[in-house]
Amino acid sequence: MSKLNLAGIGMTSQRTRDRLVQRLCDQGIESTEVLEVMRTTPRHIFLDEALAHRAYEDDALPIGFQQTISQPYTVARMTELLLASGPLKRVLEVGTGSGYQTTVLAQLVERVYSVERIKPLQEKARERFQLLGVRNVHLKHADGGFGWPEKGPFDGIISTAAPEEIPGELIDQLDEGGRLVIPVGGSTSQQLILIEKKQDEMIQSMVEPANFVPLRSGLIR
Ligand code: SAH
Repeated sequence: MSKLNLAGIGMTSQRTRDRLVQRLCDQGIESTEVLEVMRTTPRHIFLDEALAHRAYEDDALPIGFQQTISQPYTVARMTELLLASGPLKRVLEVGTGSGYQTTVLAQLVERVYSVERIKPLQEKARERFQLLGVRNVHLKHADGGFGWPEKGPFDGIISTAAPEEIPGELIDQLDEGGRLVIPVGGSTSQQLILIEKKQDEMIQSMVEPANFVPLRSGLIR
């Protein structure tokens, strides 16, 4: 697990971040370990300077290439769902984006394998991991709809982009006892879904309505 190196990172006031965590509590996030990581992860590092002052509002914000950094509530909720059955060793993330969700995960699980289809976003995220001393993240420029078969099976998989249907490859790469958290649906209506693999059975639960960017195929260099 990574411990962030925050030396020299201009942190916004403790009050602003405490307020965000209070709001996450009010919205039903219960895991103290997730809340603590949300409190100490500098979200402003994952935004362009022009938007950094809005980093501790509970909103999704643009990161370029028509993509967004996930809303803090969403990051906290998905992380909590992923961790709900105990500690995780190997987690696959589809959609590195800014690297914010990746960094939250990296502090709570042993290893994160994160796949992104837009190279410039991946490169920026890589710089941020270096700056923060996040060392347990492995990146791949690829279509995450196919997972990362060479590194599987995973005991957790999280997708931060929404497919119309759950890719079979992701289910195949889930280990026994593993958990997949993924938004599913079109641009007008999506559901956050949790799938648990138990004795080769898939137990699916609908968690809540969601609003993610679509999972797209094809790479951008
Ligand atoms: N967790 C990110 C969210 C970024 S938005 C963050 O907190 O910043 C979702 C990301 O998924 C985008 O960066 C988008 O480019 C990426 N994405 C969409 N389809 C993909 C695919 N098929 N494979 C890999 N990444 C994909």
